[in-house]
Amino acid sequence: MPTLFKRIATLFCLTLIALAPFRAATAQQGQRLNLIRDAEIESTIRTFTIPIWKAAGLDPNGVEIMLVQDGSLNAFVAGGQRIFINTGLIMRTERPNQLIGVMAHESGHIAGGHLARMQEELRSLSTMQILETILAGGAMAGGAVGGAAGGSGGHSGGTGRPMAPGSLMSFLKYTQTQESAADQAAISYLQRTGQSPKGTIEFLRYMQREEKLAINRRDPYLTTHPLTPERISAFEQAAASSPYANTPDTPQFLMMHQRMVAKLYGFIAPDAAMQRYTEADRSVPARYARAIALYRKGALGSALLTIDGLLKEYPNDPYFHEVRAQMLYENGRAAESLASYRRAVQLAPSAAILKIDLARALLDVNGPDNDREAVRNLELATQQEAGNFELWRLMASGYSKLNNPGMTSLARAEMAALRGQRSEAQTHAETASRQLTPGTPAWQRAQDLKAYINSRPRK
Ligand SMILES: [Zn+2]
Repeated sequence: MPTLFKRIATLFCLTLIALAPFRAATAQQGQRLNLIRDAEIESTIRTFTIPIWKAAGLDPNGVEIMLVQDGSLNAFVAGGQRIFINTGLIMRTERPNQLIGVMAHESGHIAGGHLARMQEELRSLSTMQILETILAGGAMAGGAVGGAAGGSGGHSGGTGRPMAPGSLMSFLKYTQTQESAADQAAISYLQRTGQSPKGTIEFLRYMQREEKLAINRRDPYLTTHPLTPERISAFEQAAASSPYANTPDTPQFLMMHQRMVAKLYGFIAPDAAMQRYTEADRSVPARYARAIALYRKGALGSALLTIDGLLKEYPNDPYFHEVRAQMLYENGRAAESLASYRRAVQLAPSAAILKIDLARALLDVNGPDNDREAVRNLELATQQEAGNFELWRLMASGYSKLNNPGMTSLARAEMAALRGQRSEAQTHAETASRQLTPGTPAWQRAQDLKAYINSRPRK
């Protein structure tokens, strides 16, 4: 499969399979979770959901959004406050209020502490290790969340029976009591933030239709969140009494949502995007979708013309610059991509993953100045993206090019720790300790890593 968005997740999923033959062997063939990263989409979903998180008493900085590239409809919580959401679900929503309803429901599961035992076991794992665990699905009895899989935490009914083949998500299945609790929570968050429950009714009706039509291929959402007529009627009752029932989506949210869906179509389904967004449609989302679809289909010239047209009208849009940079970078034109990446970073200074993208391109264009600029950007990104394997991989590469063995070893220790490779992490952290100047922050980090690794339970 060609590269979609950033290559980060696919790369590390493949790596995971290579590293964990036992677990991978028990996963169903073709079962894999490809996490994708996109600064704009993550920012859009966060902007939509921050008021909900606040209403739920959750610290928005503590909640992570994980985008799963998967056409089926699903959203689930795994590992404390990490909400995984399928691109298929996002693309299926027709307006912001529908997606906000889904996010409010997931937030209700977090706030309610549902599947607490399983969540507690996953909480201490890195995202990478959670993916490994979910990928390994049925192997969990011997894995990191063994206690949950065998007990009442992972199954409604708590029978501890073995999971059916292909039921990757079944250990994330909520009980009907938890479903209705999450719905009631969602209704209250929507009410407190002045938003309508009607979008959720629309979404649940899609699901109801899917359930009737697709007998053999149920969307995993129906597995993780059992759908009952009571769920829909709860939202209908809420809508009947809500003063916000007919509150429309704001024009700003509508545009953000349309751009997000357009972008996903362009990247994931370029042929469908070309049909859905015709050339006659001169709207921003349509031109955005076509620019990306053209690039994905190899028509780089037309793609660049289209994105340049958008940039002429919106020269301060960081994401148009980012897409332009990616088009050039992915086509072997790293040097040309730098100006666009730099502009994107400048216009969206809080988006750490843009800094990582810039660093990747800089390291591909040789030269000590570029290597230094790359490392500088990676260092700035570490605060938000400390759990990002790709960041540490690039960091190791950058410091290695700058002939800094201490920092290279430290970055390799971070990589190994994220993968859960204890002895490798230990070795690199010890090497880093010897090479770095005692008392410096980097040396201290090496000590912290050694202590952290020693504190981890052995698998
Ligand atoms: Zn649910």
